[in-house]
Order: sequence, then structure tokens, then C-alpha cells
Amino acid sequence: MSTAAAIARDSLPDTAGHFGRYGGVYVPETLMTALQELEAAYLEVRTDPAFQAELRHHLKEFAGRPTELYFASRLTEHCGGAKIYFKREDLLHTGAHKINNALAQALLAKRMGKKRIIAETGAGQHGVATAAACAKFGLECVVYMGAHDMERQALNVFRMRLMGAEVRGVEAGQKTLKEAINEAMRDWVTNVRHTHYILGTAYGSHPYPMMVRDFHRVIGREAKEQILAREGRLPDELVACVGGGSNAIGLFFEFLEDPSVRLFGVEAGGHGIKRGEHAARFAGGRLGVLQGCKTFILQDGDGQIELTHSVSAGLDYAAVGPEHAFYRDRGRIEFAYATDDEVLEAFQLCARLEGIIPALESTHAIVHGLKRAKALARDRIVIVNLSGRGDKDVQQVAKILGHQT
Ligand SMILES: *Cc1c(COP(=O)(O)O)cnc(C)c1O
Repeated sequence: MSTAAAIARDSLPDTAGHFGRYGGVYVPETLMTALQELEAAYLEVRTDPAFQAELRHHLKEFAGRPTELYFASRLTEHCGGAKIYFKREDLLHTGAHKINNALAQALLAKRMGKKRIIAETGAGQHGVATAAACAKFGLECVVYMGAHDMERQALNVFRMRLMGAEVRGVEAGQKTLKEAINEAMRDWVTNVRHTHYILGTAYGSHPYPMMVRDFHRVIGREAKEQILAREGRLPDELVACVGGGSNAIGLFFEFLEDPSVRLFGVEAGGHGIKRGEHAARFAGGRLGVLQGCKTFILQDGDGQIELTHSVSAGLDYAAVGPEHAFYRDRGRIEFAYATDDEVLEAFQLCARLEGIIPALESTHAIVHGLKRAKALARDRIVIVNLSGRGDKDVQQVAKILGHQT
């Protein structure tokens, strides 16, 4: 771990937005000005005590921070090994960590004098968090969503509309997240003067991966303080699921320079690592550029983006955040995947033993956390990031398990 310790985490990315050979800015010329303006505005508020204090206030009063660090005693007993703790991002307003970033970017947009917000959403979680933040701050909100996703996630579409957002269906291609992002970028180019684009994960062109990461660092900051207060020492391992990578890097960042702490990112193994059947970019992907960013991508020999599959919509994306690719190369963050079947089993186990119904995304982290706990001695500590709650997934799981609803 000596190489990892030698990386000054705060120096990343470099001024051009690179995490080593990953990240950067790959957009049409028309978007360069918007990204530069955003970077300048963000760098200003990053060290502005007034902005940070206002953000802390809203995170507490509106989102419900700090979230608890919860000892999962019965799952720990069940595994017979290391102590398992959950960082309870599922307790936040709108049901997941995404509100940390949505609130912060909405506040930044206000500061920049932008009165109109656009966002993309897949399953609808980021759209709901953005709609809530916009309602709170009185900002106009337009959310792009694939037409296919709108059908699958009708309830989230209604939630967004209740909170005053306009949801625009995208009919192109597969009619899912990738097409929704393209449409949001098109809107941004056209309306950049008064519009801010709230991207929902630690992905895309600089400064998004850095900025979204920073807005989620509060997760790791709290977790570190809480585990030190409770156990008097650092945890041995952290586990988080990785879609774009925002909840994971938010938890990990504060521990990057603690070499005794192992960090595990867990991707979606879907039906197993066969082409088109999963979304484990590090298990089947290679270097490429997608939607503004150079990183690990699931693609065929011609560079065509491959279809992905996961039981959890929030992990179902062909590319991974650039900072994760960088730290994986360095051996600092290790990666695993969980299959749909493992996830469905752990989902039920967690509900039954802890009285907590986790999001299917977060359940990927639980699957790996349980494996790690079993492999470690009882005096060890594993923290699993419970990125969201599973209320949104209950109907889908009922259908899969063959229950009548
Ligand atoms: C969106 C989502 C994720 C995946 O996004 P990351 O940016 O990788 O964190 C994970 N968990 C939940 C609950 C989500 O809603």
C-alpha cells in the first residue's frame, strides 16, 4: 500500500481533469465554455465558508444529516466473523445518498444565478432528488428520462411531477439512461446561459467527477468520526456498490490515505460475466471514451457500447467513474461484483435479520460485505455503505419472487 499512501488525494484530478490516464474533457466545443464556467464557480465555493455553512445547514435540516452508523448485530451473528456496520444513507430524504449532490449543485446553481435546472435520470432516483432540491430552492426543473425507463418507473415520474418538475421522455435508441444523458447535454448546449446541468454521479467531463465526489465526501467524514467514537479505531474494510461511483468514492475518500483500511467497490454482475448480461466494467470492459469521459467501458471490438443488465437500475450503466479506474490501477481500491441471484438472496436476508429493506444497488455491497465478514476474525470491522432504501424495489422483487401484489 506504499504507492497508495504516496498519492496526495487532494491533488486529484489535475487541472485538466485527469485522474492519471482517466477522466478529462471530451465534449463538443460548444460545451467547453459551460464546463469552464462551472469549474471556476465550483472552485470558488469549494473554499467559501459561507457557501459550505449554508450547504451544511440544508444537509442537516432538509436531507437529514448526519446519518447513523448502525451495528448490524444479527447479520454479524449470522456470518460469525467481523463486525458489520451500515452507514445509513438510506435514511436520507428521498431515500438515498443522491440528495447530498443534488442539494449542493442546486445551491451552486443559485449562486451562479442560474434559474433553470436540467438533469438526467435512469431509475428516477437522481431525478427525484433533483426535483426535491429544485422545489426547495424555487428553481425550474426539467428531467430527461428514457421513455422505456418512464414506463418501468412510473411512480418516480409521478413523484417528480408532484414536486413541480417537468419530465421529458426520450425516444431515441434503447430509450434508457444513455439516451437521456445525450438529450440533457443537447439541452445544456442550447440553454447554457441560464441553465445548470445537475449530473447525478461521479462521472462525465471535468469538473463533474471531482465536484460530485466532493459533495459526497461527507459520508466518509461522518463514518470515520463515528467509528472512531464507537470502536476507538479505524475499520478494517469498507464496501460500497459502484454504478457511476459516487456513493463509493464519497465513503472511501476520507480513508484513501489510511493504508490499513481495505476498500472494495462492488459492481453489478447481473446474470454473470457474459457479453450483454452484466454491468461489471472492470470484469469485462476496457479503456474508451463515453459521454465526456475516458475510463473503463463495456464495448465490443469496434468500440460500440455493449448492452448491460442488472437487477438494479442504478448500477446498470456501461462506464465507470474515472477516479475508480485510477485507484484500481494503483491497487488502492479493489473491485468485485455481485450477481442478481446473490443480491435477491441478501435483500431478503437483510430485511429478515435487521428489519431494513435495502436498495437493490446497496444490496450488491451487502453481498460482498457478508463474504468479507465471514472471511475475517470477530475482532475485525467492516463498514458497508447502505446507499439507499429499498422501498422503490419492493414491487420488482415481489414480481421476481412470484408474490402477488
Ligand atoms: C444511483 C444509486 C447508486 C449508484 O450510483 P453511484 O453514483 O455509483 O453511487 C447506488 N445506490 C443507490 C441507492 C442509488 O440510488
